[in-house]
Amino acid sequence: MTTQQSTFVITPVPAFKDNYIWAIANSTGDVVVVDPGDAAPVEAYLAKTGQTLKAILITHHHADHTGGLTQLCKAREIPVYGPPGNHIKGITQSVLDGDDFTLIGTQFKVLALPGHTLDHLAFLMCMPVSPFPDNKFSLFCGDTLFAAGCGRLFEGSPEMMYTSLLRIGALPEDTCIYCAHEYTLSNIGFAIEAEPDNLHLMRRQKRESEKRHQGLPTLPTTIFEELRTNPFLRCHSVSLKEQVSARMAQELHSDLETFVYLRRWKDQF
Ligand code: ZN
Ligand code: FE
Repeated sequence: MTTQQSTFVITPVPAFKDNYIWAIANSTGDVVVVDPGDAAPVEAYLAKTGQTLKAILITHHHADHTGGLTQLCKAREIPVYGPPGNHIKGITQSVLDGDDFTLIGTQFKVLALPGHTLDHLAFLMCMPVSPFPDNKFSLFCGDTLFAAGCGRLFEGSPEMMYTSLLRIGALPEDTCIYCAHEYTLSNIGFAIEAEPDNLHLMRRQKRESEKRHQGLPTLPTTIFEELRTNPFLRCHSVSLKEQVSARMAQELHSDLETFVYLRRWKDQF
């Protein structure tokens, strides 16, 4: 049952080989984009939709998330929200964990989720979005969590990354998650190796393959879906522990250790 008419629409703008630049639009044609690694597809999207770019959100410093900033901001004066530290040229509003701000009629809360990089942020949008009007929250999590996977640990410690993933996993189950890459099918391939007896994974593989065959994105995903199919959120699972332990020839004494060796296994996969 729809309890509130949603006025927001979130559209993936594909960039490079497998990036998604997420465009969040309200009903009056104002739009916020997340992680514009390239300006050209964003300009093409704006020209096609007639929407007006009002602000940019940046999750972390990698070029495939920031590369379009300079060009997009040359053409217009708009705020750019992102990590503090002045290492990302073009950020006008440095934000920290716990901060919140309002843009185009919706509130965004900031979560600091280090691990993939030390500066990594996520933005939690707190408004219903079409066609999921009953979901109140949408998370833009960059390269921290992927559908059935997680980002590589380039800068942070495993402990940081695992804590960040658990924070995502603790959000309401119907929260929609907008990851920055289309990695779902290859992640599921690995997840099935790690958890061969997880029937939800087999079913998900079929569903997501069909979407890709039709040229559709597999995203957004939800917390509910990730909790039952993402091995990096399932380090408490006894059977997953057994698989990781056997494959990596390691005795595992904690969920964190399971995460460490699961991530290492995936890096070699
Ligand atoms: Zn990255
Ligand atoms: Fe990336």
